Amino acid sequence: MANKDLPFLIVGGGIGGFAAALALARRGIASHLFEQNTDFREIGAGIQLGPNVFKMFDYLDVIDEVSDWAVFPDNIIFRDALSGEELLRVPTGDQIKQRFGYPYAVIHRADLHNVLIDKVKTLPLATLSTGTRIESIEDHGDKVTVHTADGRSIHGRGIIGADGLWSKVRGYVAGEQKPRVSGHIAYRAVIPTAELPSHMQENNVVLHAGPKSHLVHYPLTRGAVYNLVVVFHSDRYEEGWDSYGDPQELEERFRGQQPVVLDYLSRVNAWKMWVLCDREPIRNWTRGNVTLLGDAAHPMLQYLAQGANMATEDAVVLARHLANAGDDAGAINAAFLAYQQERYLRTTRVQITARLYGELYHAADASADFRKQLLAGRTPQQSYDGMAWLYNGINV
Ligand SMILES: Cc1cc2nc3c(=O)[nH]c(=O)nc-3n(C[C@H](O)[C@H](O)[C@H](O)COP(=O)(O)OP(=O)(O)OC[C@H]3O[C@@H](n4cnc5c(N)ncnc54)[C@H](O)[C@@H]3O)c2cc1C
Repeated sequence: MANKDLPFLIVGGGIGGFAAALALARRGIASHLFEQNTDFREIGAGIQLGPNVFKMFDYLDVIDEVSDWAVFPDNIIFRDALSGEELLRVPTGDQIKQRFGYPYAVIHRADLHNVLIDKVKTLPLATLSTGTRIESIEDHGDKVTVHTADGRSIHGRGIIGADGLWSKVRGYVAGEQKPRVSGHIAYRAVIPTAELPSHMQENNVVLHAGPKSHLVHYPLTRGAVYNLVVVFHSDRYEEGWDSYGDPQELEERFRGQQPVVLDYLSRVNAWKMWVLCDREPIRNWTRGNVTLLGDAAHPMLQYLAQGANMATEDAVVLARHLANAGDDAGAINAAFLAYQQERYLRTTRVQITARLYGELYHAADASADFRKQLLAGRTPQQSYDGMAWLYNGINV
């Protein structure tokens, strides 16, 4: 097989990896995706989808399927968890769609993942290998190779590292470094909506902001379940992923907050815990014919709710540059460099802004007063203006 007929090798089958397979197929480019897990059951719970990612879903021809599973909330509401005061209300229905051309929604991560997987499975240009862990990679200049944990070697034109926060491919590209442990912990849970009294079943994304902590809740999966996420500062946990939360710690961290906050917390029996990490933004995501995408390239704190959104944008931009690449030596590397050049300032802005939002969400004392002053009286138009750099989206 001539090297130009080899597929691109995608390491990692998260939302970013599948978006990449889809975007490449959309451009007539073959890919082979490797996921270490045996099935594609996504861990985690709800994710928010900005108008910017709906533009990508439109391009990737999955907007109807995503919309079928998503919930379209009426508002994003920001409340002070100590006083109960509403500090900000941003309409997220028709108004946001009119302003940005696409809607704002929330979706269960597994529902989104399944939409992308089902779509990829219909495409002859994408090959999937599950239960396949990539142990090492090689770049020979004219082709690349991934070596699997079960001893196979597969060749391709280029490697796209979509292997998440702990990316092995990033180690190859940018050197081995551990993620930055933020000291912020998230507990997430999903409960049947029917278990909540009607006044707690809001069709809104509601954020209760307290000192060094916050609670977010919203409905998911066509309203059948309700998503709860609490975040707080703690130095008790260093690193880890997907273990169970400690209800006693939660009780201590949220003591004194509004009864409605405590009521939501009391309705969960088992919390899943995430130790929240990010990394410092970097300019270079590429080495030879190997590049990075999504959390592997620019892991961010979740305060702007954009990690999966950015991974999907990466995929669309990367596929465009590869489609325009020639066949000559160095063409793949040039396309990878052009891709990172187009992406890195936008993703850096999201990474940095997410950290700042975390400060604002968890403000106490004078900082909380400043937050109130900042948000008070803000019109929906002013809120949309403030998000325009993000929600206007990118060129496909
Ligand atoms: C609490 C919380 C809330 C969030 N909320 C939002 C939100 O509202 N909106 C939003 O857009 N984002 C949100 N995010 C961020 C979002 O989840 C991530 O940014 C996004 O899932 C990253 O996707 P990815 O495909 O780059 O990486 P991942 O989802 O981490 O996928 C990487 C995949 O690679 C596989 N893999 C790793 N190593 C190998 C290997 N060697 N061989 C084979 N496979 C491998 C892994 O098994 C995994 O399936 C949130 C994150 C958290 C923690």
